[in-house]
Amino acid sequence: MLVVHKYGGTSVGSLERIDNVANRVAKARDEGKDLVVVVSAMSGETNKLIEYAHHFSDNPAKREMDMLLSSGERVTAALLSIALQAKGYDAIAMTGRQAGIVTDNFHTYARIESIDPKPMQEQISKGKIVIVAGFQGINKDGSVTTLGRGGSDLSAVAIAGALNADQCEIYSDVDGIYTTDPRIEPNAKKLDTISYDEMLELASLGAKVLQNRSVELAKKLGVKLYAKSSFSDNEGTLITQESNNMEAVLVSGVVLDKNQARVTLRGVADRPGIASEIFNKLADANINVDMIIQNVGSDGLTNLGFTVPQSELENAKSVIESFATDIEGMDFDANVCKVSVVGVGMKSHSGVAAKAFSVMAQNNINIQMISTSEIKISMIIDEKYGELAIRTLHEAYELDK
Ligand code: ADP
Ligand code: ASP
Ligand code: MG
Repeated sequence: MLVVHKYGGTSVGSLERIDNVANRVAKARDEGKDLVVVVSAMSGETNKLIEYAHHFSDNPAKREMDMLLSSGERVTAALLSIALQAKGYDAIAMTGRQAGIVTDNFHTYARIESIDPKPMQEQISKGKIVIVAGFQGINKDGSVTTLGRGGSDLSAVAIAGALNADQCEIYSDVDGIYTTDPRIEPNAKKLDTISYDEMLELASLGAKVLQNRSVELAKKLGVKLYAKSSFSDNEGTLITQESNNMEAVLVSGVVLDKNQARVTLRGVADRPGIASEIFNKLADANINVDMIIQNVGSDGLTNLGFTVPQSELENAKSVIESFATDIEGMDFDANVCKVSVVGVGMKSHSGVAAKAFSVMAQNNINIQMISTSEIKISMIIDEKYGELAIRTLHEAYELDK
C-alpha cells in the first residue's frame, strides 16, 4: 500500500512537533506502508520570509520571492528526514525539482504541469521513505516556482495522483472537516464524509483547512483524500464522490471569509461592452473578482457592485479610476465579510436561501450582496457581524445536532 501524508505548518511548527511527525510516519512504516511525506514550512516561517523581503522592497521580484519562500519547506523536509534517520528509518528528503514537479512560469502562483514519478518511485523501490518539500516545483527554465499560499496540499494531491497512491492524508491541527470553523463555533460537528464539490465550495469560500486547488485536483484525478489531525488518532473526514445518501443532507457547512472588500460603481454607462472593459482590465491587473452584481439600468445608467480580496482593493481602485468618464461615482468598503452556506441538498430542496435571509433579519444584519450557485448561498455583510452570523446560521440549520 502506498500512502501520501501531508503535514501542515502547525504540525511541524517546532522541533518537538517534527519529532512527533517522525514518530507517526515511523508507525505507518512499521505497519508496512510505502510512504511519501509532503511537508509545509514551520508555522509562521513563510510569513516571516515575506516580511524579510518587504524590508527591502514594496514590490520584490516574484522569481526571487519563489527562491526565498521555497526554502521554508526545504528546511522541514531535511529535518524530518534527519529525525527519521536518527530513529533508524531509511528516509530521503527531496526538493520539488528533485521530486520531478514541473510547473508553468507563473511565479508565486504556479500551476503544476507534470510530475515525473520516476525519481520518487526509484527511492520507494529502494525501501526509502520519501520526504518532499511541499509548495514548490520548477519551471521549464529551471527556476524554482511556488504554488500559492496553502500550496503544500496541492503538492500532496498531485504527487498522490502521479504515483497512483492508494490514498492521500492531509494532517493539520483539526481532526477533519467540520460543519464550520471550530475556532468560531465550538459546537461545530465533524463530518465523516463530504463530497469533492462541497469541499471545493467550502475551501473556495474561505475554509482554509484544505487549499481549494488541491480539492479540485483530487476530484479530477479521483484521489481518495482524508483530512486528519497530527495530534490525535481520531478518524478523519473522507472527501469523496457525492453519494445518493449525501443528498439527504441539506446543508453541510457554513463558512466565514473575512478577506473581502466591496466595490460599488454608481452611474455606470449602460451600454454594451462596458462590463467586458471593466472586468478585462481588472483581470489584466491579476485582480480576482468574486461576486458581481448589476441591476437593470434606467436613464442610460446602471449600478455595478463586486468584491475582491482585501489585499487587492488598492489595485482595483486604480484600475477603476481609469474609467472616470464612464462612471459617476464609486465607493469601497474593506470592512465587509462573506458568509456562505454550502450543501448538495440545495439542488433538490427549496427554502434554504430564505432561511439564511431570515436568520440575518432576526439578528438585524443588513445583507449588502447575495450570490448563489447550485450548492451554495453567499452573503456580503458588515465584518463585525461575521462570527455572529456564522454561529446563528449554524444553529438555524441544526448543524450542531
Ligand atoms: P495547515 O497549516 O496544517 O495547512 P491550516 O491552518 O491551513 O492547516 O488549516 C487548519 C485550520 O482550518 C484549522 O485550525 C481551522 O481553524 C480552520 N478551519 C476553517 N474552517 C474549517 C472547517 N470547516 N473544518 C475544519 N477546520 C476549519
Ligand atoms: N508554507 C506555505 C504557506 O504558508 C505553503 C503551505 O503551508 O501549504 O502558504
Ligand atoms: Mg493549510
